[in-house]
Amino acid sequence: MALVRHFINGQEVGEPTRTGVIYNPATGQAQHDLVLGSVADVESAIAAAKAALPAWRRTSLVKRSDVFFRLRHLLKERTPELAAIVTSEHGKVLSDAAGEISRGLENVEFASGLTHLLKGEHSEQVSTGVDVHSVKQPVGVVGCITPFNFPVMVPLWMVASAIACGNTVVLKPSEKDPSAAIFLAKLFQEAGLPDGVLNVVHGDKVAVDTIIDSPDVAAVSFVGSTPIAKAIYLRAAQNGKRVQALGGAKNHMVVMPDADIPGAADAAISAAYGSAGERCMAVSVLVAVGDVADELVEAVRSRMGGLVIGDGTDSASEMGPLITREHRDKVASYVTNAPAEGATVVVDGTLQKFDNDGFFVGVSLIDNVTTDMKVYTDEIFGPVLAVVRVANYDEAVELINSNQFGNGVAIFTRDGATARQFEFDIEVGMVGVNVPIPVPAGVYSFGGWKDSLFGDAHIYGPESVQFYTRSKVITTRWPKPSESQINLGFPSNH
Ligand code: NAD
Repeated sequence: MALVRHFINGQEVGEPTRTGVIYNPATGQAQHDLVLGSVADVESAIAAAKAALPAWRRTSLVKRSDVFFRLRHLLKERTPELAAIVTSEHGKVLSDAAGEISRGLENVEFASGLTHLLKGEHSEQVSTGVDVHSVKQPVGVVGCITPFNFPVMVPLWMVASAIACGNTVVLKPSEKDPSAAIFLAKLFQEAGLPDGVLNVVHGDKVAVDTIIDSPDVAAVSFVGSTPIAKAIYLRAAQNGKRVQALGGAKNHMVVMPDADIPGAADAAISAAYGSAGERCMAVSVLVAVGDVADELVEAVRSRMGGLVIGDGTDSASEMGPLITREHRDKVASYVTNAPAEGATVVVDGTLQKFDNDGFFVGVSLIDNVTTDMKVYTDEIFGPVLAVVRVANYDEAVELINSNQFGNGVAIFTRDGATARQFEFDIEVGMVGVNVPIPVPAGVYSFGGWKDSLFGDAHIYGPESVQFYTRSKVITTRWPKPSESQINLGFPSNH
């Protein structure tokens, strides 16, 4: 088996003192060993980033943006290769892997506009003979810690803007599918990024703690599950760092009685089972309003049998395996335990048999779910769709606003007034109207509310420029030497 190593200062390095195993989830077989970073490994990555910072900060904006233009071209050209790496370690189907690369590309495109994004402001004559201007300067070394479910897109959410803003980066990707991050770092290098600006270290809590405790790391971007996001937010903030930590989700899709039911059923299936439900914006709760429930559940059920589940490299497959055997078994346990909680299992995906040892599970639909059941309270992160029946619009809003998470939500209706009211009422960061997975385009920022995000900056887009820069305000005056005088009064603007 090949050994996947760190990428520090432009070189692949790292001794296999402590290792992990990378599986191919479609076969269940181990395919690579992975160096798990020691404190010393991570410290050397941070030192490389720190050493690269002064020169990168001095690099002109035009030269920096050139890197992103070249990177965009390379990423497009090498998409099939990178998608194959994603599929082999994550399991998602190749078209979905290519899809995440194209969404990640939006962040590269955004970053290539850095000459515009980093403009400051200027006010002439705020006081007599006095001007004020502001500049945006990099924060320093940025630590980026990413989850398994988008091994290309989520790193690009962070590193594109961080680097464009003149920072240097230590990226710690998920230890379950880390090879895509190494591929990305090499593409950045090929695009002309100087060594040391983007470093990748692999590992677990040891590596993450070293990043968030290091006095040389100024800011931390994290995406992952809520308990870890919260812990990282608290610890990094206590260490005086700027931190944004995006957590888990339980995304509801409301179907109003006037909705187009076949369209809503298609959307629910796509958003619940795409990428085996391992998307932070996956729909996991279908909220059936009023008398729509029976027809809606039947419309979803009748479509489920046709889904093709298999190896992501097979072009016929629409859904691949889950990330690990343990995760597959945990997901299955929610379905198995649902009847004892009082829910109705309409389709039991755990009964589907697969002819190899891959981490597969079929798709499940569970009706009559209530808010006290584990299938509702927990983020399952698998192909399990729960149906909650409510009497009316107000109950739907109350249900969603009472949930601990607030990442994404959708409403399906033909009525503009209902949709507009929903946009106003709902306490969720990203809202779709007849759009089941409302991931904002790269020129906006992404982020949930409540336990889906700790910190105040959303990720990528305009808020990322804010997060990855410090503003400095400069007040200037050029008095004639003859006008100079002593004045102990507080400076006021006249
Ligand atoms: P995870 O929290 O297990 O891991 C995320 C990262 O944290 C990984 O790099 C991992 O190595 C590291 N980590 C894990 N345990 C740690 C610990 N105890 N201390 C320090 N670091 C630790 O998440 P995951 O299973 O890789 O990803 C799935 C989760 O990510 C889901 O909850 C999903 O909703 C969430 N997610 C959220 C968003 C979002 O935008 N809000 C996007 C993608 C994924």
